[in-house]
Amino acid sequence: MAKCCQPMEGEACSLSPDKAEACPRCGKKGKPVATLTVKSLVRDHTQASASVPYSFCRTPGCDVVYFAGQAVFNKPDIKVRIGIKETADPIPLCYCFGYTREDIHRDTGAGKNTVIPEKIKAEVQGGFCACEVKNPSGTCCLGDITRAVQKSKKDVPQTVAAPTRNRATDQF
Ligand SMILES: [Zn+2]
Repeated sequence: MAKCCQPMEGEACSLSPDKAEACPRCGKKGKPVATLTVKSLVRDHTQASASVPYSFCRTPGCDVVYFAGQAVFNKPDIKVRIGIKETADPIPLCYCFGYTREDIHRDTGAGKNTVIPEKIKAEVQGGFCACEVKNPSGTCCLGDITRAVQKSKKDVPQTVAAPTRNRATDQF
């Protein structure tokens, strides 16, 4: 958590999680996101006022990406695919260096370890990331990458699209 987000009276930090609004579509609490992120990623930045605090809706099935009161930006209004809201490839995970869920699947598919997290960490340490203007959540992707790697490893025994049909043929 950023230091600016202390619960102090008067000066409320716009990025404080406590100040997160509920998404007008799905009703789930959004994640505060910097105006710079919104302006960088919406197709028409003239629609994104700099004077309102935006939130990012993380609900996978919800079409809303950013919202601030009445102002709502849906998936088609955003320049990039929103990884957590997509079920079909390509599902972007790391927006700064272009890694997708497919890349991770390809690496871990043979039960191997992937070096993608290490590659990203090295880039981040070198100061080459630009999460605030590249990643729709405005934050570093490493958490998403780690989750995707773990999930991908778990999914390895059933990488085939139709696991039930597979099981049936196994009996012959
Ligand atoms: Zn929503």
